[in-house]
Amino acid sequence: MQFITASSTQTKKLGGILAEELQGGEIICLTGDLGAGKTTFTQGLLKGLKIKGPYTSPTFNIMKVYNLKVRSQKLEAIYHIDAYRIKSKDLLNLGWKDFAGKTNSIVVIEWAERVKKLIPTNAIWIKFEWINDKERKIILGKK
Ligand code: ADP
Ligand code: MG
Repeated sequence: MQFITASSTQTKKLGGILAEELQGGEIICLTGDLGAGKTTFTQGLLKGLKIKGPYTSPTFNIMKVYNLKVRSQKLEAIYHIDAYRIKSKDLLNLGWKDFAGKTNSIVVIEWAERVKKLIPTNAIWIKFEWINDKERKIILGKK
């Protein structure tokens, strides 16, 4: 499935739509160049999960954990990771095995291809492509 969004608002909305489908335990892998819209999409997803902002980019943090205040069902935390500058080993040191794929967490990971070794086969892959200043192609299910 693929979409063309014509603004960052539309990309956020798409993130919000995905958020509604999430149950917990998902690992969402975002790929695509710098500026392609991975963080923008994640912001919409976080908003869709009713998480209060500000949603700063994890680029300078590597990982940002949002704990859910309203613990609806089992979901307790969202992990937003930027793997641009890290290796699999670093992610393991951050506790990857303790939270990734657990039913009480959702993991969103930008530049996931850089830590491919750690990504389970049931992960959701979404590819972002820059078309022009305003448009992005967003492809669900593509690495
Ligand atoms: P990435 O995380 O992939 O590096 P960002 O989401 O941080 O990308 O940046 C995307 C930039 O492109 C933002 O400045 C955003 O406002 C802009 N932009 C313009 N059009 C779009 C669009 N259709 N979808 C997403 N971002 C867009
Ligand atoms: Mg980003």
